[in-house]
Amino acid sequence: MAFVNYNNNMANQQPAVNIETGASKSDMELLQERFEKLKLVTMALWTFLKDEKGITEEALIARVKEIDSFDGSSDGKLKLGIKKCGKCGKALNPKFEKCLYCGFVTPVGSIFETF
Ligand SMILES: [Zn+2]
Repeated sequence: MAFVNYNNNMANQQPAVNIETGASKSDMELLQERFEKLKLVTMALWTFLKDEKGITEEALIARVKEIDSFDGSSDGKLKLGIKKCGKCGKALNPKFEKCLYCGFVTPVGSIFETF
C-alpha cells in the first residue's frame, strides 16, 4: 500500500493518507512503523558491536538490566530525573540551556539528557 505521510512530525495531527483508497493511518499505526524502523536500525548497530567488538547477547541483556535500574525502578523504562542547575540547584527547564534563576549554563552530562 502506498501511504503518503504529509508531515513526518508526529506532533502534527495530519493523518497519512493512502493515495489509492483514501484510507488514513492512525497515529498508532504511524508510531508502530517508526518503532519498527528504529528497531531495525538498532539491530543493525547491534550486529556491528557483536561482530566487531565480540560483545555477547548475554552481556547486552545484563547491560540493559543495569541501565533499566538507573532510575530506581527495573520496569523496562528509563525515566531520567529532572536536571538541576549546577550553580543554584533549582530545576532546569529542558527547553533552555541557561538557568532561568541565575543564568548558569549547566554542561550536558549525557546526550540522553537532551531528549
Ligand atoms: Zn541556577
